[in-house]
Amino acid sequence: MSSAYNVVLHHASLPMAEFRTRYQDQARYIGYCQACKNYDHVWSCPSLPFSVADYLAPYQQVEIIAARIDLAPATIAAADTPEKIRTTGYDIVITVKRQLEDLMLDLEPQLPGSRMLSSGGCNRCERCARADKQPCRFPDRMRYSLDSFGFDLSAIAHDLLGIDIEWARDRLPDHFTLVHALLLLKPVEYDWERFLQDTAAKFRN
Ligand code: SF4
Repeated sequence: MSSAYNVVLHHASLPMAEFRTRYQDQARYIGYCQACKNYDHVWSCPSLPFSVADYLAPYQQVEIIAARIDLAPATIAAADTPEKIRTTGYDIVITVKRQLEDLMLDLEPQLPGSRMLSSGGCNRCERCARADKQPCRFPDRMRYSLDSFGFDLSAIAHDLLGIDIEWARDRLPDHFTLVHALLLLKPVEYDWERFLQDTAAKFRN
């Protein structure tokens, strides 16, 4: 690992019904969302102007794509103040998140009817238009997050991908994890191994 971090991609597939049964608990997660500064201030986050059950109803299959961001030891060591931990962690996570979102958005036209779900609140704009009661500036690019729909990202990462999600506390963690998904109208043949290889190569560029 010569740069500040290295991205390792993981993939898992699950039928939607099983995914919802095992990992969705909206009643529990809405409380966390209501305590978050994004609540009612970011369009990708609750409160949502539709029923999540209705939104998910057309989809039969879920493809999970996760990015484990392994931080270089030098990156961890250099973040030696609370401010550096916060800014370094944020900058790395947001950089990878935007890259992965765009790569997965490019998948949607290849798999007609599919829809991407992201990880955490939308960060495309410095300040979300919702905070000023304005419409989303990029509705064609904005996607809702798995957590805003009440999915347990830690359990998904642990059970399906063998990753234990870590957070920055008094130091940067060894890795961050972003869990994204592609919702499919029905299961399709797709070379996910190839997608992971091609996508990983783009993170190295
Ligand atoms: S694209 Fe911009 S305006 Fe739309 S949800 Fe994201 S941050 Fe908000």
